[in-house]
Amino acid sequence: MTTDFLILGAGVIGLAIARELKRRQPTASIVVLEKEAEPGRHSSGRNSGVLHSGLYYAPDSLKARLCRQGAREMAEWHVEHGIALHRCGKILTPLAAEDAPHMESLYARAQANGVRVERLDAQELRELEPETRSATGAALWIPETAVGTPVEVMKTLAREVREAGVALWNNAELTRVDTVARQALLKHGERLDFGYAINAAGLHADRVAHQFGLGRHYALLPFKGLYWQLKADAGIHLRHLIYPVMDLRTLTLGIHTTTATNGVTYLGPTAVPAFGREHYRGLHGVRPIEALRMLRDLGRMFLHDSEGYRQQAWQEGKRYFRHWFLEAVQALLPNVRAEHLVPAAKVGLHPRIFDQRRGALLKDFVIEQDAHSLHILGATSPAWTSAFPFARHICERIENPEAGAPDRAAPVQPS
Ligand SMILES: Cc1cc2nc3c(=O)[nH]c(=O)nc-3n(C[C@H](O)[C@H](O)[C@H](O)COP(=O)(O)OP(=O)(O)OC[C@H]3O[C@@H](n4cnc5c(N)ncnc54)[C@H](O)[C@@H]3O)c2cc1C
Repeated sequence: MTTDFLILGAGVIGLAIARELKRRQPTASIVVLEKEAEPGRHSSGRNSGVLHSGLYYAPDSLKARLCRQGAREMAEWHVEHGIALHRCGKILTPLAAEDAPHMESLYARAQANGVRVERLDAQELRELEPETRSATGAALWIPETAVGTPVEVMKTLAREVREAGVALWNNAELTRVDTVARQALLKHGERLDFGYAINAAGLHADRVAHQFGLGRHYALLPFKGLYWQLKADAGIHLRHLIYPVMDLRTLTLGIHTTTATNGVTYLGPTAVPAFGREHYRGLHGVRPIEALRMLRDLGRMFLHDSEGYRQQAWQEGKRYFRHWFLEAVQALLPNVRAEHLVPAAKVGLHPRIFDQRRGALLKDFVIEQDAHSLHILGATSPAWTSAFPFARHICERIENPEAGAPDRAAPVQPS
């Protein structure tokens, strides 16, 4: 069989690209390969569902460019398709007096990125969200942040893409590729000739890119995002998402709250190293050879203390344990007690992109491309928020490869 476009991976990025390509080239044939039994089994169906405002990202980054527009489009798309959307806004609160300058940096960053942000004094904070605290009395309010419903989005998007005429193949894992003949070999022996391949394989995107001979100095490092949830009878009712003020140089957003559209409040996620690309629980998904490679890369970062990694590793690592996780929660919500928390079934893996040449994690999306293929590496948060404009960006890159060249030199930026 032959297809004009072959998309690898039916996460939100693969499906959004299929949708956009079909709009631009209605007569082109498009096949999306998904190794699982249905789309969205990995990051796209396991995330917090926050439609991020675009507050954190360096103003010249791809993330900043795509996130604000993406949040608007994703919110409209929820409404258009009758999918639950919670327009709750977000509060950022400093947990220590030393966070005051970081709060100012966040305020300036929000303004540079065109994100609506308001300062709150102690009285206003108490009125808006009485459960939280601020070490300085002040806080920031981002009214436009919303929460969507990831699993529903994936089901609806898959249906929309199929109805538009895209072939969506489940249980279809790409195992090998012949780049000269432009032929994909699937797990069960099928072969598929393609004109152009787009790699949106999420946690496996580096391995797929390497099969195409691209991105050899990049490797994905998975970090585990574990959540706890607040019991419904805890008596703690939050109106907003609540995040700690963080140093823009750090790699994670810190333990925060997300009240999902079904009313459940999640706390987390953590960002602790995982030892396999699908190492969600226990030892399931641990791959010893990969784990050794990951330990080596983590060890390099620890040794060089790149991006202040040592302190972050210590801080995040502790949160694997209930005691320290609770400590982080109580810094944000002092009334939460141990008996108010239960482990959540939800767990996701963040594929962070490690640049072997620099020995550091990159924070922007990285796109590698040649004449017949394009590869999306490190599509971490806010890729879910940004999916629709991200898909347009990819299609423009395919139509005009030279226009996107600066993306290849992605600088280190906060996620
Ligand atoms: C804990 C957590 C919380 C997050 N919270 C947010 C948030 O609140 N807001 C936000 O915007 N973003 C959030 N994100 C990020 C967001 O979920 C991801 O950026 C986004 O889902 C990435 O989508 P994707 O399509 O690139 O990857 P995925 O959803 O992982 O999809 C890739 C697909 O490729 C398939 N695949 C892999 N290899 C092959 C192969 N060889 N052959 C065929 N198929 C293959 C996989 O099975 C998978 O379905 C979060 C992520 C995590 C982990």
